[in-house]
Amino acid sequence: MGGKCPHRHVKKRRYSHKTARRTQFLLKGADMVYDALKKPDEERKPLPLDEDLPGMGQYYCLHCDRYFANVSVRDEHFKTKRHRKKVKEMLGPAPHTQLDADLASGMGMPDNGPKLS
Ligand SMILES: [Zn+2]
Repeated sequence: MGGKCPHRHVKKRRYSHKTARRTQFLLKGADMVYDALKKPDEERKPLPLDEDLPGMGQYYCLHCDRYFANVSVRDEHFKTKRHRKKVKEMLGPAPHTQLDADLASGMGMPDNGPKLS
């Protein structure tokens, strides 16, 4: 006669909040980071203090577009696989650019050698 459903206590397993929120921290596109890395130093302003960010926004990994609470956390991050992979990506072939497209279609930077007469 009525009573509790016997399966009631079985909780549905959910993702942890952090995992669920991870999409909020999704990284910028590789090409955006690449652009930032290409900028000359004078265009890289000193990091503005931002109370909303970990470590006031002073410990930033440009490659991964992430902020860290302090320098040791950031240094730890620099040693991680994820970061190294990112750095490698940045050092490798550029994300697709218009120049690539031109070169691929034989339109960019002609190098025909010395002119023959
Ligand atoms: Zn990083």
